[in-house]
Amino acid sequence: MDKNKEKLIRSLRNIPDFPIPGVQFKDVTTLFKDPECLQLLSDMMYEMYKDKGITKVIGIESRGFIMGPILATRLNAGFIPIRKPGKLPAEVIEESYSKEYGTDAIQIHKDALNENDVVVLHDDLLATGGTMKAACNLVRKLSPKKVYVNFIIELKELHGIDIFDKDTEVETILSI
Ligand code: AMP
Repeated sequence: MDKNKEKLIRSLRNIPDFPIPGVQFKDVTTLFKDPECLQLLSDMMYEMYKDKGITKVIGIESRGFIMGPILATRLNAGFIPIRKPGKLPAEVIEESYSKEYGTDAIQIHKDALNENDVVVLHDDLLATGGTMKAACNLVRKLSPKKVYVNFIIELKELHGIDIFDKDTEVETILSI
């Protein structure tokens, strides 16, 4: 593995049994607090998307709100938040999705995108993929030209990547 990825993996903190027993929580705050790691993440994400004509970076609440705007400024793109219900002030559209226990929903402003936008959706971590799949469905309702998906970390053993259709290009920085 290249030395930059090794550095990121070494710097990622694992918290066993958080927030519930059995979960190995990947704590990305230890990447963000290290100036070298933060710069590496910014550079790696920029390299992935610099030639794709991205017009908007879309961050998923809340850990997608950290690297999302950093990537947006690197790409000279705009930044759009996807949020939990009741947080966005203007007119929204919504997508519901099932979680392990019950259902959840996410929203985006109705006027966030148009059909000329090329977007990349970003979140910190891919587990089952349920959240990001719902975000893709939500964003597609606004008919952007092209949708890319990005994560810092993919938990390989959960095979969350298989939930995405073939038209969706999914890129992750670290596959662990
Ligand atoms: P999922 O919809 O199952 O792919 O879950 C993804 C969302 O849950 C992301 O927003 C992650 O931040 C969070 N998440 C799920 N599992 C973990 C984990 N093991 N460590 C850190 N965050 C997680």
